[in-house]
Amino acid sequence: MSNFPYRKASAFFKDKFNARVYRVAVDAGFTCPNRDGTLARGGCIFCDEEGSRASYVNPKAPIKEQVLDGIGKLKSSYGAEKFIVYFQSYSNTYAPIEKLRLLYFEALSSHPDVIGISISTRPDLLPESVLDLLEEISKKYFVMLEIGVQTFNYKSLIKARRFHTVSDSIDAILRAKKRGLHVVAHMILGLFDEINIETIEGGRILSVLGVDGVKIHHLYVIKDTPLEGLYRRNRVKVYENPMDFANLVVRFLENISPSMVIHRVQGFAPKRRLVAPLWTSNKHIISNLVEKIMREKGTYQGKFYRYND
Ligand code: SF4
Repeated sequence: MSNFPYRKASAFFKDKFNARVYRVAVDAGFTCPNRDGTLARGGCIFCDEEGSRASYVNPKAPIKEQVLDGIGKLKSSYGAEKFIVYFQSYSNTYAPIEKLRLLYFEALSSHPDVIGISISTRPDLLPESVLDLLEEISKKYFVMLEIGVQTFNYKSLIKARRFHTVSDSIDAILRAKKRGLHVVAHMILGLFDEINIETIEGGRILSVLGVDGVKIHHLYVIKDTPLEGLYRRNRVKVYENPMDFANLVVRFLENISPSMVIHRVQGFAPKRRLVAPLWTSNKHIISNLVEKIMREKGTYQGKFYRYND
């Protein structure tokens, strides 16, 4: 165990694969039932048209080409050694199963240094057929399943127009865990009017459910989203001061299982699309503040976690 105050994903991957593992984002052209009219149109209030796609991704290129292009860049820029192909944009299980099979295997066979895939999706898009496929792949490759839980507060889910339920999230986590996948929950801490204890409870619930990793986000406002109008009319608050959000992250970390892997501690958006908070365009501001606060307080991940793993 390193003396870093929380369990960073980079250290987890280094321990597991004895290599510098990076994720290569791809865009396979999926949409989302919350955008195409199946559940709703317009998406969650914070979702933007580009669906959080990484800036280097060319969504028009075939998957193999996107993977090879990304690997080339990551090798030359960061000395990356092994790769996990990250199906990132929109809902990456939202297609017929045979199409998913083709796409996932195309990614996995693109390059010998690809060691796994990471699939990002909604909690209500994980039928057993998809889990069968992911379990099959996990016999040979590392499979990370990223589930957009966001919050365990039902009112916040409604306000965000997620159109899935808290029980959808719990059900998805429990069924995915049975398949032996590395389950990662996406959580937006301090969403809308949630009080701090809800953030802490959210972390404890994830831990008790056996979630393997978490991606922490903050609420940020992107231009031309439904959230922008609400923000401009003072109907929603965001963490304008990064220190306030960093303190919330520290409380969350203190209350989760020490074994949970921390894949990120904030969201990111480039300045050209960002409305608020402006620190969102600084990718490292929260991780730097969190480390500083935790070292100064002498605190660490799991300090107040009181359940058994
Ligand atoms: S579920 Fe994800 S992709 Fe779909 S609208 Fe919401 S944030 Fe966007």
